[in-house]
Amino acid sequence: MLRYILVDIEGTTTPITFVHDVLFPYSARHLTEYLKAHADDHLVKEALDSVCQTVKLETGREISTAQTAPQLLAWISQDRKHPALKAIQGLIWEHGYREKVYTSEVYPDVLPALREWSGRGLKIGIYSSGSVKAQQLLFEHTNMGDLRPHLSNYFDTTTGPKRESASYIRIAEELGLATANILFLSDIAAELVAAQAAGMQTVQIVRPSTVAAAEQKHAADFTEVEALLKQLPGGCA
Ligand SMILES: [Mg+2]
Repeated sequence: MLRYILVDIEGTTTPITFVHDVLFPYSARHLTEYLKAHADDHLVKEALDSVCQTVKLETGREISTAQTAPQLLAWISQDRKHPALKAIQGLIWEHGYREKVYTSEVYPDVLPALREWSGRGLKIGIYSSGSVKAQQLLFEHTNMGDLRPHLSNYFDTTTGPKRESASYIRIAEELGLATANILFLSDIAAELVAAQAAGMQTVQIVRPSTVAAAEQKHAADFTEVEALLKQLPGGCA
């Protein structure tokens, strides 16, 4: 019986271009200045310590917190999903949303589907590499308004990497559900394979920029997911 729909963001609810052409450059432009201004903030300190630890572990180099800015800028350009980078980006993006420098973009089929599913008693959650804070900001400030009332949970890479099935088992445990009760929607085949290995149901969202993966159920958008739901085991008629 389907109880829960777990949703990826980038390439699924939101164009990849919004993240790569708007959010990433904004965080890169404001990083150095933000770190200077917030050097004493607990969250910033904790994140920068974690950057230093990772650099030490991976390269043996000891860097000071003052040297973390160039490291973080390099990670932004590599699209590295390091939790410390994601935490700092979330803090910087908050400023951009509040100042209305940008509004996040959600595909037009997303909100009607969220309404339909939550109206039917299904719960909906997000699993994305952006920090939980960044996810909440993104869904608060969309071109379709504040979508947070439709969302029950947010998971990020502090739960685990998106391409490892253990992460999906952890999410199900946290939700108190069997993995078979959960449908995961993503554009990335490796994430769907990991979720399937954990026992979740999956559908690949194939937006115009996405390559359809073999051996996956496909939907062009959330409207098509609705049609597929009727074919899933215990799906809603
Ligand atoms: Mg994605």
